[in-house]
Amino acid sequence: MEAKTASSHFIKNIVIEDLAAGKVKEIVTRFPPEPNGYLHIGHAKSICLNFELADEFNGRTNLRFDDTNPVKEDTEYVESIKQDVKWLGFDWDGLFFASDYFGQMYERALLLIRKGLAYVDDQNGDQIRETRGTLTAPGQDSPYRNRTIEDNLDLFQRMKAGEFADGQKVLRAKIDMASPNVNLRDPIIYRVVHAHHHNTGDEWCIYPMYAFAHPIEDAIEGVTHSICTLEFEDQRPFYDWVVRECEMPWVPHQYEFARLNITNTVMSKRKLKQLVDEKVVDGWDDPRMPTISGLRRKGYTPESIRAFCREIGVAKSYGIVDERMLEHFIREDLKLKALRTMAVLRPLKVVITNYPEGQTEWLEAENNSENEEMGNRQIPFSREIYIEQDDFMENPPAKYFRLFPGNEVRLKHAYFIKCEEVIKDADGNVIELRCTYDVETKSGSGFTGRKVKGTLHWVDAAHAIAAQFRQYEPLISDEAEDDGQSFLDHINPNSLEVLHGFVEPQMKEAAGGDKFQFFRHGYFNVDPKDTTSDRPVFNRIVSLKSSFTI
Ligand code: ATP
Ligand code: MG
Repeated sequence: MEAKTASSHFIKNIVIEDLAAGKVKEIVTRFPPEPNGYLHIGHAKSICLNFELADEFNGRTNLRFDDTNPVKEDTEYVESIKQDVKWLGFDWDGLFFASDYFGQMYERALLLIRKGLAYVDDQNGDQIRETRGTLTAPGQDSPYRNRTIEDNLDLFQRMKAGEFADGQKVLRAKIDMASPNVNLRDPIIYRVVHAHHHNTGDEWCIYPMYAFAHPIEDAIEGVTHSICTLEFEDQRPFYDWVVRECEMPWVPHQYEFARLNITNTVMSKRKLKQLVDEKVVDGWDDPRMPTISGLRRKGYTPESIRAFCREIGVAKSYGIVDERMLEHFIREDLKLKALRTMAVLRPLKVVITNYPEGQTEWLEAENNSENEEMGNRQIPFSREIYIEQDDFMENPPAKYFRLFPGNEVRLKHAYFIKCEEVIKDADGNVIELRCTYDVETKSGSGFTGRKVKGTLHWVDAAHAIAAQFRQYEPLISDEAEDDGQSFLDHINPNSLEVLHGFVEPQMKEAAGGDKFQFFRHGYFNVDPKDTTSDRPVFNRIVSLKSSFTI
């Protein structure tokens, strides 16, 4: 069963205190993605945190697109983000765009100028960076810092009117170039960008910087707890400065938690976009991607992702979560839900020489040995079947209990068979086995005459459906995700394995998104994009077992 809420964490405690002290009447949170890529599992953590926190205290959560950078943003991303949030199981109260507030932000910037708290700087980006100082040395005042209020008002309005080129002028907050917090050394709050915006078109050619825009957005929406990741901790003094000096009627507060990192996974939209653009993967929803759309296509359920996000909790310091933890939760979710069926991924033909030609019998098979309610199905059995190539060895080592010449094994839900003869092609490859079966050993008949140690899965050759299987390994082969640009050099060449085999005949009905457990192989999802009416494609979600325990 899925727990409804996360156990206690420091932000929840703050919420409880704020409600008890009457500081806020209602909790309002927001999830504020920048629409410059598809959401990933790290975003899922932030989504769950914001929505579940508000839900638990009967509050509200807005979905707000932080679309202050016209160059990188796109409506395709807006739509995918909405779809992903809904799919995860959440419904927003308000749907907003930062760009809806551009007019108000402009007015607040004028207010800062009038208060002598913002100025137009003619220095270029490099000059501003070079004079910002370091962690130990203060910055230097810009030669334009003491422009008159009238000059600043005039220049800023002309920036808006399109009189200046990109980068020619910026508006900066006038705070303190010697502040120990570098973020308070006259940060840029507006810049000139002559670019078409996905929402406001060509209405604006000046755009607010994220750090200035975000607190204003939160304040306008009445957000009480503005939750973000730790790298914004040093921005908090500026966040509070903006809310105060812009005289926002509502005062939101920012709280930071540690972003989610997962082993063997790149978790930045910029890098994920690079993988897509350079065609390392087959789109944002490639099942190897840690995107929500990729996880969905691989076969993850919303329940499993929410359970994972609750389990990892909300921390105040960085950590890295083992990818097997995510796998644990999808196994748990599917264990009692998924039909357990047989699939042969690397087929080897077996002819049962003493089985009557032309005969088919239908055997009873349970659908889920741990969940009787899922009932039974009938599976065909006849003279020719497929087994897994790996389940046969001509010269096996000791303790090999699968099939080898002269050995007997059990076929799941069927009979014992014994290997009598090995057929090879001209190159010496095993292409077929000749076996005999023992009619007495039928599954469910109560046969106790003798025991065998190996049980193999199989499918009936005449009735089986040809299928494609895709198995995945991590896309990044080692812990190289944080060394800057070079992560593309660490792509695992074996991240995708495509196999052609067979599934049981009732899989004809399988539709995109259906999930199954293939006996001895793992959990698989019917690929919603590449499955056709005559050839299903199965993506392996996860293998059956892991050494990992939580
Ligand atoms: P990326 O670096 O992947 O582009 P981002 O922080 O720039 O991430 P945004 O669209 O700005 O992406 O993020 C929306 C929200 O999701 C923010 O509140 C951000 O803090 C949160 N978020 C992003 N990545 C993670 C993560 N790995 N773990 C938890 N929260 C995250
Ligand atoms: Mg960002």
